[in-house]
Amino acid sequence: MTAEIISGKVVSEEIRGNIAREVQELASRGFRPGLAVILVGEDPASHVYVRNKEKACHDLGFYSEVHRLPDTASQEEVLEFVDRLNNQDNIHGILVQLPLPKHIDEKAVINAIAVEKDVDGFHPMNVGNLVVGDDSLLPCTPAGVIELIKRTGIQISGKHAVVIGRSNIVGKPVSLLLQRENATVTMCHSRTANMDQIARLADILVVAIGRANMIDASYVKPGAVVIDVGMNRLDNGKLAGDVDYESAKEVAGYITPVPGGVGPMTITMLMQNTLLASKRLNGIN
Ligand code: NAP
Repeated sequence: MTAEIISGKVVSEEIRGNIAREVQELASRGFRPGLAVILVGEDPASHVYVRNKEKACHDLGFYSEVHRLPDTASQEEVLEFVDRLNNQDNIHGILVQLPLPKHIDEKAVINAIAVEKDVDGFHPMNVGNLVVGDDSLLPCTPAGVIELIKRTGIQISGKHAVVIGRSNIVGKPVSLLLQRENATVTMCHSRTANMDQIARLADILVVAIGRANMIDASYVKPGAVVIDVGMNRLDNGKLAGDVDYESAKEVAGYITPVPGGVGPMTITMLMQNTLLASKRLNGIN
């Protein structure tokens, strides 16, 4: 059996098309959603991510601002920017590109973002709302993972999902979202014993560990949905997931590739969050 490929590129294009149409409709009523990004320092990967976010804003008709601050920017300067953007009416989403330079306390900066403009979903209030099941802005990559699983047409409710990785930005929120969809969720991490046996019980297997090609066919139940969040740069410059795609696809029912799986969904969900935040802030249904 060869798995059906879940293309994040295709799903992402569909969602972006819907967002662009809605933004156009809002523009005809004189309203434009706005996203501001704060980027501190010279990390090359962060600069690429921010350029991609700027491009997405441009392509979908959003207003955007990018504030590029030098490595030497102080925490106070960053907090001042956040405060200004919190109070700026044409900005509905604020994103601080992580990681920040070491002398800046990331938590202090994230906590300073207005909860209703926290389109990354990292503010403790949004995290808490996710935990207790209240409405909130959801973290983008985990929201993208759920969207991709739903696109298979497989009902999540009642299924056994195994999530490998328990980070605050991927593994934990993915497990909470799967529980919200009524899956029975098992979490695995670096200290889990017999992980292959546990993973083989999964109808839905989500992998976010940052270890290139580690999860091969021996971890996959025949017919399972396999979502690979991993993005690892190999020595040859190529991008690889955490799942050994070539072997896993022979056993899985559905599988995401890397690149072209979860990756394209992250910015798309960011744009969706910004659109949602802008409508909520302005009382638009
Ligand atoms: P992270 O913060 O480093 O967390 C990794 C998690 O994997 C930890 O919970 C760790 O367990 C677990 N782990 C590490 N080695 C393991 C092993 N051998 N067996 C079982 N569990 C293991 O990583 P992250 O930020 O969640 O990112 C994970 C991957 O997703 C990375 O490749 C990252 O680049 C990618 N990512 C992609 C996107 C996207 O947009 N596509 C977004 C975010 C991240 P412990 O808790 O026990 O240490």
